[in-house]
Amino acid sequence: MHFETKAIHIGQPPDPTTGSVIVPIYATSTFVRSHLDQQEGYEYSRVSNPTRAAAEACLASLEGARYCLLFASGMAAETAVLGLLQPGDHVVCTRDVYGGTVSLFTRLAPARGIRVSYVDASNPQAVAEAFQPNTRLLWLESPTNPLTYILDVPALVALARERGLLTVFDNTFATPYLQNPLEWEVDVVVHSATKYLGGHSDIIGGALVYNWEDLHTVLEDEQAVGGGILSPFDSWLLLRGLKTLAVRMRAHCENALRVAQFLQEHPKVERVLYPGLPSHPQHALAKRLMRGFGGMVAVYLKTDRAGTNRFCTSMRYFRLASSLGGVESLVGFPATMSHGSMTPDQQREAGITDNLVRLSVGIEHIDDLIADLERGLAQL
Ligand code: PLP
Repeated sequence: MHFETKAIHIGQPPDPTTGSVIVPIYATSTFVRSHLDQQEGYEYSRVSNPTRAAAEACLASLEGARYCLLFASGMAAETAVLGLLQPGDHVVCTRDVYGGTVSLFTRLAPARGIRVSYVDASNPQAVAEAFQPNTRLLWLESPTNPLTYILDVPALVALARERGLLTVFDNTFATPYLQNPLEWEVDVVVHSATKYLGGHSDIIGGALVYNWEDLHTVLEDEQAVGGGILSPFDSWLLLRGLKTLAVRMRAHCENALRVAQFLQEHPKVERVLYPGLPSHPQHALAKRLMRGFGGMVAVYLKTDRAGTNRFCTSMRYFRLASSLGGVESLVGFPATMSHGSMTPDQQREAGITDNLVRLSVGIEHIDDLIADLERGLAQL
């Protein structure tokens, strides 16, 4: 079955009681028992729910995985991953990672006795040197947020495997339409389903996707006992979003390339980073690993912070807002938004400056988007 067909059919047979073509929203907290000593099927919606199970089956199939668990947010999913670690464990994390992941590692992980080191994972040698005797997990994200750098994930996973480490990969930016990290033998794929998977900026959700049964034993407890589950309604919205993931991603990729090409030629733009541009430092690697280059574009403007503010607040369609991956275009200012929790030193090291903006290119008509960017650039 092809990707587009799986997105519409896996986990979604007609409802057995009514024939409903669409999976119903099972808005129930609990399910009736037929006997004191046994429960057939569903029991309690924190543990499992048919609408959530349908969305989990669908997303698992899109990532080519055995298991998927849906959580109340991407961060709830990431927090559940900490359940795979013990006090005293050490994590190596790529330096260019979502700011919320840094907050998780800075604010919650230490109390659990977990320490994290950051490393420039575009340099496998640096990653190997960052491993310590108690390193247990390697955390990767590619394309990176916000600069869209590409990591040689298969090579990094091979390094981690030599030492028996777990690998976790945040596939939020690319989605399973553009790459399937489990094929590179990553152990756990993380998603913020809030972004492209939902696709309409109307849910907050997260997912863990993986193949190993021993991980499942721990992670399903993190979901059911931790309790940070995706609600039936949000699961239903996610299912609806997944049905159009392929067509949306094709449109995002097409528009983002056109936006990147336009900005690259513009005299008021210092630098554009988009993996689909031949000028991107890892364009060849992106071509090898990805089936398309995504909808995220990083832009260094030729201006100061005040100019960046004028650019970000003068456009009609690229609205200044956190988040990404919806059908509508957004512009973000990483220094105070997605990466605002980083210290100034961390930001400087990660290339997050006062003239950097991140575009989430939506699926509006490309001519309108270009005209909108012209409007913003005219303010510089
Ligand atoms: N991972 C990435 C790459 C993200 O961009 C985000 C949110 O922006 C998250 C994880 C966290 O997801 P959520 O906001 O759904 O908790």
